[in-house]
Amino acid sequence: MKESKESKKFNPQVEDYMIMDKDNCYACKKPIQGKWDSTIQLGIEMKELKGEGKSRFFFRDKCIRCSPSRSQHIVHPKFPPVKDDREQYNKEFWDKYERSKYQKLYTKAWVRLQEKHNPNWITEEQGEVVAKFNDIR
Ligand SMILES: [Zn+2]
Repeated sequence: MKESKESKKFNPQVEDYMIMDKDNCYACKKPIQGKWDSTIQLGIEMKELKGEGKSRFFFRDKCIRCSPSRSQHIVHPKFPPVKDDREQYNKEFWDKYERSKYQKLYTKAWVRLQEKHNPNWITEEQGEVVAKFNDIR
């Protein structure tokens, strides 16, 4: 008994590996819920990243909310707004044209991710959601 306790006690390398393996967000350390909650998947959807295998090698994944430079552009009734307080990223400092362009791109990419991967994406409300989504075009 004592022996197994000791060996579990401290092994940072194994722990690091497990964090990555289990797909925890490296910013908030909470598990990433699924592909629909993954910054890498959003990046692939946005064509910012080329492919999952390659991207996972270069980037550690985050949940979408922990990437405010991206998630601030997602404007959707199902997505509580995110603000990026860093002046160089905050969209409030952008010109209107750029802001609306990125808002459309990221919101659409996010919706596509939900449709593809989110098991809780609510279909009974879809009519309403689509209607609201059309408003921002
Ligand atoms: Zn996170």
